Amino acid sequence: MKFTQLRLAGFKSFVDPTELRIDAGLTGIIGPNGCGKSNLLEALRWVMGATSAKSLRGGGMEDVIFSGTDSRPARNHAEVTLVVDNSDRRAPARFNEHDTLEVVRRITRGKGSGYTINDEDVRAKDVQLLFADAGTGANSPALVRQGQISELINAKPENRRRVLEEAAGVAGLRARRREAQLKLNAAETNLDRLLEIVEDLD
Ligand code: ATP
Repeated sequence: MKFTQLRLAGFKSFVDPTELRIDAGLTGIIGPNGCGKSNLLEALRWVMGATSAKSLRGGGMEDVIFSGTDSRPARNHAEVTLVVDNSDRRAPARFNEHDTLEVVRRITRGKGSGYTINDEDVRAKDVQLLFADAGTGANSPALVRQGQISELINAKPENRRRVLEEAAGVAGLRARRREAQLKLNAAETNLDRLLEIVEDLD
């Protein structure tokens, strides 16, 4: 699964629709201070399902919307699209007939954010699992924030293990296991209740 294009509109400093082609191999972003390099990485994290304001350097989720400048008014809407080449068919079965996936996240002031994959409404969890299974995602160690290396060196072993799990592409399994465990607990509770009813009937 390869990222081929990133499109932004109204996201942080990228107020006008902006399209970036992502070629094979290593991608570097260069430019003067404050031109929006980190905002681009944040757009990538955001569209992959980032929920933590810390990873997006903002106070609240709406801080990703263009907040205006002296010459331009603020926007009420932000949108990021990540185009993914799925010709290696690594996407979950539900999306796997497509060669190309367009993952879109939109946010509107006061209304929260939502996601689509190829125009189909999906949950945040669907998007997070899609990228986690591909060994990437909003917390991927492939996206290196300023200060992240020293954070990693000082991290507790358990947190460092999570980074390795993300890199190995097994983070999605951990999320699915938690979901399965919750379902199992609910089923056990139902079974206990059923046994009590059966006992009462005897
Ligand atoms: P540096 O090289 O100094 O780390 P950078 O190229 O990574 O800079 P960013 O930190 O990505 O730059 O961009 C900072 C710019 O984005 C600032 O000018 C800031 O005002 C602007 N910015 C951030 N959030 C918003 C927002 N919600 N609306 C408008 N502009 C924003």
